[in-house]
Amino acid sequence: MSAQPSTPTSHGIRIANVTKEFPALPRPAVDDVSLDIAPGEFMTFLGPSGSGKTTMLSMIAGFVPLSEGSISIDGEDVSRLKAHKRDLGVVFQQYALFPHMTAARNIAFPLQQRSMPKAEIATRVREALRLVDLEEVADRLPKQLSGGQQQRVALARAVVYEPRALLLDEPLGALDKRLRDQLRREIARMHRELGMTFIFVTHDQEEALTLSNRIAVFHEGKVEQVGTPDELYERPRTLFVARFLGESN
Ligand code: ADP
Repeated sequence: MSAQPSTPTSHGIRIANVTKEFPALPRPAVDDVSLDIAPGEFMTFLGPSGSGKTTMLSMIAGFVPLSEGSISIDGEDVSRLKAHKRDLGVVFQQYALFPHMTAARNIAFPLQQRSMPKAEIATRVREALRLVDLEEVADRLPKQLSGGQQQRVALARAVVYEPRALLLDEPLGALDKRLRDQLRREIARMHRELGMTFIFVTHDQEEALTLSNRIAVFHEGKVEQVGTPDELYERPRTLFVARFLGESN
């Protein structure tokens, strides 16, 4: 309900007074953002283009260093940890599939990196393929899959090693309307089945309102309001929030 952190907790993701400045920008890309994300929560960063959503997500992922503030996961300060040490699943646009590997091998890759026994890898890959409903195309290469199927492989690959949270940056952005709706339902189902924390970035109000437990509305690098879809829709605290939620794409 509040943009400020609630009571201190050692669980979940805590973003405390995080700022990111880029040299050429007149104002910070992310400006003193504080936010607590509860374990298992579906949290969406919603806002117009350039409002700082991707930069915030990239700092949580460990792709972009913080200028100020801290980020902790389950009580552990990860602000200075390298991305691969944070134990987070990511589906970012730049995280494309390996083109020379089948869907199944793409999904197995993070498990092989962690030196998991072969039999366990096979079981987990089968479960992940089932989760995203891709069992029949397990042996196809990415180029033999549709855009929606490729994105589902990326989702399966991101959750197969049971990370602490899944970070999703506009994962439906490149898809047509029908596939978007379909994949949106898949993501909602994955969240229900896995019970994992999801952080989802979008500029699409409808996506945010239908998927999220809570939404953080970004505007010019700041979080204007945090709340459930109902709270934001019924009691917007600023004109910006009211206008932005009222728009449709
Ligand atoms: P959003 O995800 O809401 O579209 P971004 O986080 O991508 O917004 O961008 C926020 C601001 O930071 C924008 O003004 C953008 O141009 C700027 N920005 C993002 N990344 C960089 C970078 N690597 N170097 C300089 N400016 C950047």
